[in-house]
Amino acid sequence: MTVPYITAWSAEDVLADPDTLPLLRTGPGRAPALVYPDEQSQDRDRYGILWRRATWAPGEGQPRFARVHPIRHRRVMLRGSCQICTAPASLWMTAAPAWHAHLERLGPAAPYLTVDPPVCHSCAITAAHQCPGLRADGYVFLAPRRWANVAVRGQVADPASDSFSESRLIPLPGAVTTGGTPVDLRLVAAESLVSGLFEITAHHDPDEVAGLGRRLDTPARSRTAR
Ligand SMILES: [Zn+2]
Repeated sequence: MTVPYITAWSAEDVLADPDTLPLLRTGPGRAPALVYPDEQSQDRDRYGILWRRATWAPGEGQPRFARVHPIRHRRVMLRGSCQICTAPASLWMTAAPAWHAHLERLGPAAPYLTVDPPVCHSCAITAAHQCPGLRADGYVFLAPRRWANVAVRGQVADPASDSFSESRLIPLPGAVTTGGTPVDLRLVAAESLVSGLFEITAHHDPDEVAGLGRRLDTPARSRTAR
């Protein structure tokens, strides 16, 4: 059984641990903002958004196939790498029910927003055989003309109540997206990147897909240490 690179392991605390939530800094004369008391450069992205922390221990304990490690997930989304083997990815693969729900709700011309990182051709075959959801419900390959990381999912702090919202979609500055409402990015604790796929043709044969599409944002390297 192949364990995908982005899969979380039982020794890794992933988001469930409230200690990984940053603190809300407030004070007279300055805007409320989320901070870590011992903040390091890799805690923020190029937009200044603060990211949730997670323990790093891949291979320790048991793989938790239903859970994703946020740092490894973010890394492959930033690089356009295969979520299973980290080679350069060439295919967007998604569960057929999710794609059909998108078509029904928004139509074929709407951007498709996804937290599923792409895969390479050989790992697409592995995923089709080993992923229970894809095996049971089917899958499609999406060939967009263009794509970009357009949003984050995360929680938003409310200075008035000193609490966090449920996880929600937050558009990135300057990104083309149809989802979410702009919020004060200083109050966001991000959990995952969201890619937007534009002008999509769906295929069942991966050999009919020429690649991920033209990338609109800069394929920055993750500043995470590992
Ligand atoms: Zn791969």
